Amino acid sequence: MNKEKSGSGLLLAMLTAILAGGLSGYIWGPAMGSVAWLGELFLTLLKMLIVPLVAASIITGVAALGDVRNLGRMGGISITYYATTTLIAVSIGLLMANLWQPGTGVDLGASTPPAHTTGDIGISDLILSLVHPNIIDAAAHMKLLPVIVFCILLAAALTTIGERGKPVIAFFDGLNEAMMRIVEWIMLFAPVGVFALIASRLGEAGGGEAFLAQLTGLGRYVLAVISGLLTHAAVLCMLLMLLARRPVIQYLGYMGTPLMTAFSTASSSATLPLTMEAVQQAGVNEKARRFVLPLGATINMDGTALYEAVAVLFIAQAYGIELGFGQQLVVLLTATMAAIGAAGIPEAGLVTMVMVLEAVGLPLEGIGLILAVDWFLDRCRTTVNVFGDSVGAAVVGYLTSPDKKAGN
Ligand code: ASP
Repeated sequence: MNKEKSGSGLLLAMLTAILAGGLSGYIWGPAMGSVAWLGELFLTLLKMLIVPLVAASIITGVAALGDVRNLGRMGGISITYYATTTLIAVSIGLLMANLWQPGTGVDLGASTPPAHTTGDIGISDLILSLVHPNIIDAAAHMKLLPVIVFCILLAAALTTIGERGKPVIAFFDGLNEAMMRIVEWIMLFAPVGVFALIASRLGEAGGGEAFLAQLTGLGRYVLAVISGLLTHAAVLCMLLMLLARRPVIQYLGYMGTPLMTAFSTASSSATLPLTMEAVQQAGVNEKARRFVLPLGATINMDGTALYEAVAVLFIAQAYGIELGFGQQLVVLLTATMAAIGAAGIPEAGLVTMVMVLEAVGLPLEGIGLILAVDWFLDRCRTTVNVFGDSVGAAVVGYLTSPDKKAGN
């Protein structure tokens, strides 16, 4: 089958599914809960692949780099890209919140206690979360960061034991290819899954009219987050052109399926298998792709960082608490850390935001003010998270390829 043709067919099917899902949820509201299980099925199929795919991808990616200096170079460029783009994202968020003043004049009476907060998350917790005493337990609970660290160490060790390491690397190479084949099969089901996820979630929110009322109730806040996300997406497009020398429209065409899946699932981890497939189709340097994408999906969350900055300033404004330049600087740093610490699962950003609120002494109850629309903004920020990861893979792929080619 012609891959280009089947790719654009799938893109069209996904787009239709999103529109039809939105329309059905809008019109039939809670009745669309009857298709929720189809969305759950799609999500579970994707989640099923995450741990084996991340492990196989990181191990083969790191092993292919060979020399530990190459790993250092690729790791260094990736971390620099992640940190820089996350800081840009938070700065855009701060700018938007200062411009729109979304929290000024908000009725605090509408505030309800936050649904889930985990309390303190400090820098030391973030560092400790890199390792786990039982790697099987970490994998079983989808704690990807310790799995990634373990796989980097394992791959590095495998390259130092010569011949005896080779069959193990070959095993993971085969596993990686097989996982990618399963991804292709699951993609055939993606339009149905996406339709069900959107329709049932909009239905759960009470249908179109209830949803629109929630959106307009927090209108300026929603606008500040969305205009910030669009601005950041434009910055990412520029980086794609300048640092990865890629035509934006063409790359967006490849990324259509994962971006729509990110919007439907609100999970960058669940979207990862599709992101990997799309970036492979786009011909991004294989070594970079295998190493950079799983790492990015776990720690690089530009959309989340931006949203946390807007949300925290919104809460401060709603409570009439002035955050000066110094405190906004604290928000810049802590929102970056909080985004790194957020897992690639729905509404994880809402939980790690506690760290930012505590850093600037804001009431945690403020989270209650933004709960109603969070499920929707979560989808928007996850889409930007996934786009940021894919641009990162293209940039690192270009910068580390010896002959500076955009493709393999
Ligand atoms: N849902 C987001 C993601 O998976 C994380 C968040 O901001 O809540 O990327």
